[in-house]
Amino acid sequence: MSKKALIVIDMLRDFIEPCGKLYIGPTAEKVTQAISEEIEKARSYGTPIIYLCDSHSEDDPEFRMFPPHCVIGTPGAEVVDELRPHPGDKIIPKRRYSGFFQTDLDLTLRELDIDEVVLVGVCTNICNLYTAADARMLNYKVTALKECMSSFDEAAHEFALKEMEQTLGVKVV
Ligand code: ZN
Repeated sequence: MSKKALIVIDMLRDFIEPCGKLYIGPTAEKVTQAISEEIEKARSYGTPIIYLCDSHSEDDPEFRMFPPHCVIGTPGAEVVDELRPHPGDKIIPKRRYSGFFQTDLDLTLRELDIDEVVLVGVCTNICNLYTAADARMLNYKVTALKECMSSFDEAAHEFALKEMEQTLGVKVV
């Protein structure tokens, strides 16, 4: 039987709160509620919960493409109150789209004997897609919960879900 982890991607103030630096829009509220239910389920099953958190320096090269956001030490880089991590949850900072790129994610999953990751969070077509891609390249089974994903770009959201399913072999439910 496979052992799962729930991976909560970038549910941070700068993306989710209307006053955030890169607010994804009104779907944020619905997605936060749906993720809150998934986190609760995971806790009741004892499934490990891993928060992947954008964590940029002030002069991060990513800011040539996107306005500055989730700068280390600012309130915008914090997980939203509704989904606040509990002691024992893992928090993994990342600087790039993929949660696997030069982070502790793969090592953490291996230490926990995880072979399946369940992805939730934002944005579907950016960090979710590239994290899903790297997870598949590393042979993890991947499930994407579409009601628990969103993007500022609805068409890109749909495209990314299709790409995950048809090209990466992600189970989209
Ligand atoms: Zn970023």
